[in-house]
Amino acid sequence: MCTPKSAGGLNLVNLKGWNKEAILKMCWDIEQKQDRLWIKWIHSYYIKGQSMEEIRVPTQACWMVRKILGTKEILHILHNEAVGKKSMIRQAYKQMLGSFSKVEWRNLICCNSARPKAIFTLWLQAQNRLLTKDRILKWKMQVEPVCVMCNQEEETRDHLFYDCIFARKLWRRLLQWIDQNSSSNTKGKNPQAQALRLIYAEYIYTLWKERNTRIFEKHETTMENIARRIAYVCCARANIAARLFLDNVLFRICCCFCLLF
Ligand SMILES: [Zn+2]
Repeated sequence: MCTPKSAGGLNLVNLKGWNKEAILKMCWDIEQKQDRLWIKWIHSYYIKGQSMEEIRVPTQACWMVRKILGTKEILHILHNEAVGKKSMIRQAYKQMLGSFSKVEWRNLICCNSARPKAIFTLWLQAQNRLLTKDRILKWKMQVEPVCVMCNQEEETRDHLFYDCIFARKLWRRLLQWIDQNSSSNTKGKNPQAQALRLIYAEYIYTLWKERNTRIFEKHETTMENIARRIAYVCCARANIAARLFLDNVLFRICCCFCLLF
């Protein structure tokens, strides 16, 4: 979860790692900024003219001083030329994380203006971590394996979101709404790609929610109503670029809702 979005993570901060780099920065301050009052105090009481390499962590010092001086073994990280003087903690933190290989579906997650819960569902779906019935069956749990959307085939991730006749009709309906075809590109920052990413994330979330509603609440919504719901959310969530693209269909959507209400 703490890896970058491009590497399949959620880009959350690893607080333990960040704290370690923040302590390391204080150790660097002790070595470099000897004009500060608290640093002068540490120098006169504990360091006493020794270099940071020579000094032994004083056992009689308070917990805070021992923690700071205890990081001197990795002080070389901040001496690295690649680490500038600005945002040292952030740069050292990135070095600590190391490099990651990028995942193919990164462009779907990055710069997507969909609702956070839709992005999170898409993130789980891309890694096949949603609790579809094929996964539950692998845990030897008793569950009816048939897909509730079509009642024809076994429910797997690929079937539920791509191969199921219901899903295919719904996706085709959404593409028809924005006047696109199935080969439309979702890469890049152009308005069309941003709108497609937004619609795709909301499509995955809404379809997953409908599947859960059918299983747990025994309630079904028609494909047309689901498509309208997705269209409504996309119009409300679209950023400036995606809105530019969706502008030419807004009038049609408004007409649909006028007819509904
Ligand atoms: Zn199905």
